[in-house]
Amino acid sequence: MDPYEIIMKKRDGGEHSDEELEFIVKNFTSGDIPEYQMSAWLMTVWFNGMSGRERAKFTEEMVGTGVTLSYPGISEILVDKHSTGGVGDGASLPLVPIVASFGVKIPMMSGRGLGHTGGTLDKLESIPGFDVEQNEEEVNNLLEKVDGLIMGQTGEVAPADRKMYALRDVTATVDSIDLIAGSIMSKKIAEGMDALILDVKTGSGAFMKEYDQAVELARSMVEIGSNLGKNMAALITDMNQPLGRAVGNALEMKQAIEILKGEGPPDLTELTCRLAGEMLVMAGKASVPDDGYEFALESIENGNATKKLAEIIEAQSGDPRVIEDFDLFPAAEIEEELSAPRAGFIQEINAFEIGMAAKSLGAGRETLDSELDYGAGIMIDKKIGDKVEEGDSLVRICYNNHEGSSSPQCDPQAARERILDAYQIGEKIPDEKPLVYSRMDSEGQLRELDIKRPG
Ligand code: URA
Repeated sequence: MDPYEIIMKKRDGGEHSDEELEFIVKNFTSGDIPEYQMSAWLMTVWFNGMSGRERAKFTEEMVGTGVTLSYPGISEILVDKHSTGGVGDGASLPLVPIVASFGVKIPMMSGRGLGHTGGTLDKLESIPGFDVEQNEEEVNNLLEKVDGLIMGQTGEVAPADRKMYALRDVTATVDSIDLIAGSIMSKKIAEGMDALILDVKTGSGAFMKEYDQAVELARSMVEIGSNLGKNMAALITDMNQPLGRAVGNALEMKQAIEILKGEGPPDLTELTCRLAGEMLVMAGKASVPDDGYEFALESIENGNATKKLAEIIEAQSGDPRVIEDFDLFPAAEIEEELSAPRAGFIQEINAFEIGMAAKSLGAGRETLDSELDYGAGIMIDKKIGDKVEEGDSLVRICYNNHEGSSSPQCDPQAARERILDAYQIGEKIPDEKPLVYSRMDSEGQLRELDIKRPG
């Protein structure tokens, strides 16, 4: 088989055979197909898409390039959640301890920042000592001991995705339904979960800007998982402004602890508990998501979720004292207010621009080996619908002055410009967008939910 002919076939709108998909995935992973040919193929997929059959085979081949984790000593259902990526989207951080506080087993495999979006692993690593690198034996031990863990994608799990993910990040081929579906589902299948709730984001800070695209992405992933016998569901949720009040690694980790103490921002608390409700149903701990949601709120109120977070941090070699002492987190030297240029109501906050601004303060990577500044980021003081007077603080940017040092990258002026462009202020109170638009079940049936953003 010739990669040239495979690229040409997809370029001309053709459908790949199973053998062609096997050939391209295997040979790219082994290094026999060079990155320039793989980049061309990825771009043809971006333009021409894949059929359901191609997507399923592509995912299966990616899983097959590595190991699938197994859990010989665990008889319970393994439940997980994955988000398609957003800004201020730190839901996994409080979610794992909330759900694990009910004894549910969660082997969550997460990622690092991608493009303008933050990564759960980077946020966790702002906790001194926290270790996200776990081998299969350690994963099994952690699940037995503390029920939930968050780990990185080891070299053995879906290596094709690891390699392709890095290439997509620099070839403008991230925001493809087929490639995102293959990437997420290959990791989740290789992780060995039994049930998965997907948080599929739509809006300015999501890879899928339009609602209909998000539904299509949800459907592709649900179909891949359901056909492999996994219990799947998806929530389509809003990403037209950052979630919560914090964007940045340590800032989001501190906010997650506040959520567990019942002092977090209402929108991220609500979303976290909605996702928890779904996971508790999947694990057989609640009969309907609304009951699961109430149970999640109770575990915040009675302190069980915070206790579980301390256990998880300790089990993954982190310092649990961070829960009571935020001074143990890396912090920024400089906190600077950016104020409203005029009075009115906040109409829009372009979440993509906020994500890029946080990155330019040092919260994200400019290149694959950039060092992160864990303390850097943005605190959001005003959200859509808020009333502002001229001079009121819109956000506070947090950064360290690295003058004279080559890393981490920090450009506060670029961040200021992006943030002020991201905020649109107008005369009228804007229409409210739901926090959760809809839910898709395992059969791909979509139901409108219209869960509002709490005040
Ligand atoms: N998250 C992933 O794991 N993969 C993608 O392609 C996008 C978001």
